[in-house]
Amino acid sequence: MTRLPRSYFGDPVLRARAKTVANRDIGTRSFQRLMQEMFFTMRRVGGVGLAAPQIGKSIQLAVIEIRTTVLRPGIVPLAPTVIINPVIVSHSKEQVVDWEGCLSFPNARGLVPRYKEIAVAYFDRHGKKQTAHVQGFQARVFQHEIDHLNGTVYVDRMMDMKSLMTLGEFKKRVLKRGALRSK
Ligand code: ZN
Repeated sequence: MTRLPRSYFGDPVLRARAKTVANRDIGTRSFQRLMQEMFFTMRRVGGVGLAAPQIGKSIQLAVIEIRTTVLRPGIVPLAPTVIINPVIVSHSKEQVVDWEGCLSFPNARGLVPRYKEIAVAYFDRHGKKQTAHVQGFQARVFQHEIDHLNGTVYVDRMMDMKSLMTLGEFKKRVLKRGALRSK
């Protein structure tokens, strides 16, 4: 399995609206392989989500898998999920502010408001239409990945750039204080 080369902020691919995936393409060997390689790449770098523009492909595809780690204590895990051509069909009025990072912005964290709950329509890895109702951290990850497919990155959503910090400062100042655990 190949670890895919990643794109970083500054690369215009992260700012483009990704192209819709044709349903007939989902079942092809190359597309199935791409999804597997995206999961492989995401796991190798410890991410919870990876959108196709982040590996230089401007298509409406993202993979999500949430596991509890030392950086993400007390979250609800999510089994490997592929979202293709996702659309947020409804969302709560309420937003929650919490810490986010991104594989395209190495070693940084910032506070981002996100809808607490959303309903998302998408096609799965078999090309079957699905609707998911997610909340909390899962809803945050879905919104972060769907943003990537529309050329938006988390720093665009930050309300106060003063919360932007390096991962080292985040571990020292936020994780140690247990600020994440209280959410
Ligand atoms: Zn990201």
